[in-house]
Amino acid sequence: MSTLPKPYSLPLLVDKSEPKKPILTEDNLFHPFSKSPFAAIRARGEAIQTLAPCPMCASHHSAVHAHTQAAPKAVKYECPDCGWPTHCTEEHWREDTEHQKYCSRLREVNEDEHDLRSGRRLREFELPGPQDSEAAISFSNWDLFWYTRSFPSMDTERSRRHASRLLTYPITIGSVLHQHSYLTLNNQRLTPEGSRSLAALRTTLHVPPGAPETEEASADKPQMRIFILGARAESSLPPHVWEQLCLPFPSAHFHLFFIGPQVSLPRPPNSGATPNAPGTQQNSQASVTATETFTEKSELAEEKPVEDGEEPAYLPNVYEPPTPAPIARLKRTRESIQRYGIPSYTVPYTPQLTITGMQANYSEVHPQFQETFDPYTDCFFLFTPGFGFPSAKSVSEETGEPLLQIASPTEWGPVIPSLLATKCPIFVTGFSPADVERDVKSLSLAPEVAGEFDWVITPGPNAFGSEKWEVADFDPRVMVKTNWGVWGIRGKRRDVQEKKSWL
Ligand SMILES: [Zn+2]
Ligand SMILES: [Zn+2]
Repeated sequence: MSTLPKPYSLPLLVDKSEPKKPILTEDNLFHPFSKSPFAAIRARGEAIQTLAPCPMCASHHSAVHAHTQAAPKAVKYECPDCGWPTHCTEEHWREDTEHQKYCSRLREVNEDEHDLRSGRRLREFELPGPQDSEAAISFSNWDLFWYTRSFPSMDTERSRRHASRLLTYPITIGSVLHQHSYLTLNNQRLTPEGSRSLAALRTTLHVPPGAPETEEASADKPQMRIFILGARAESSLPPHVWEQLCLPFPSAHFHLFFIGPQVSLPRPPNSGATPNAPGTQQNSQASVTATETFTEKSELAEEKPVEDGEEPAYLPNVYEPPTPAPIARLKRTRESIQRYGIPSYTVPYTPQLTITGMQANYSEVHPQFQETFDPYTDCFFLFTPGFGFPSAKSVSEETGEPLLQIASPTEWGPVIPSLLATKCPIFVTGFSPADVERDVKSLSLAPEVAGEFDWVITPGPNAFGSEKWEVADFDPRVMVKTNWGVWGIRGKRRDVQEKKSWL
């Protein structure tokens, strides 16, 4: 279910072992990776040096003398302009006329990474509280959203990149579901079928026109359940960031379910170690923690995050990234293994927000929910699911080629038909135009999916994607943006049409 640049470490993940007082000023943010004052950045440089082949060697290699050439050498030389390890030698760096296409973006990322750790006050991460019920929220674009939600003003492109990267998961969801969404019939991002699906959900999320949107109005309303499948980075976002999804809906209750084999679970009580669950061993030394820069809610944490002095382990963002580091255990976090039969937890974070995380393939837990789905209260979000990527595990019996993940029994194959059967909408994001296109095309190739769905939201850009470039460690020329695009589908409602004609 994984594709590469779904980042599993987020900008708020600050290395505890780094000094707290400001140590870099705004005019001193550029440093070659190997000379960075921050261990995590030096470690990333080292990881890239072992993973990325020199692009010049690689192109020579594939040319005429392939049989006499050695394999491409690793990148050891750091470009003086962007600071990334980009080539095997200075000579190959000088010869590469293509690098200038990437260099300025790479430099921007270099400076952003240093800025995040610079120790300055990160106002862009100071999140606003409840919405004034008189003030209407705009979901037209980031600027209007931040303005109407009373965020600190985002004065620089860098602030925009940091804030959009932090908020893209919750606000992508909010912007799709909210009555003031930018996805409308007028701009043809919403289909007539989709408009019916969203109208159903909005009866749960909002109050009737004219009525005040208040907490009191939520008293007799059902919970809105959002199932986030294949969750990875998003499952390690601190709950108070997810709370930003809830605040624009003052009269709704949310229950978020993170479900996937790489869902981040809380650290076990009274222990700095990771939960004893498969796939998380690599993170045992990870000293990054999602809560560190967010002190306002840290009193909720029952135990201190991983202590100072541990060397941060940099986890390269390769094709199969590891599960994010364990999340903080909050006071009311409880194990849910008895209830769901798999490694899981539930935390009632605020009266408005409950979060459940389950570390399992969705197919394992679907039977527990199957009878309960309701298109008025439930929807699915799949962030960068990689439908159109080849499976690493399953091959076609006919051709011997890897199956696409959407049709693969070990990835999304059994999942999507079961979601379509619920008739609840399924919203999907992708990290680039090509990624969205690849996933959308794969729908027509998947048995029990092709011809079985209606469009809810047509594929296109997501106004609430991250504006920060994510760079692949295995090839720094590969850059994408988290949640660049968004689209949605829903199982065909044949039964409804039949009933109508019969009536
Ligand atoms: Zn080279
Ligand atoms: Zn460069």
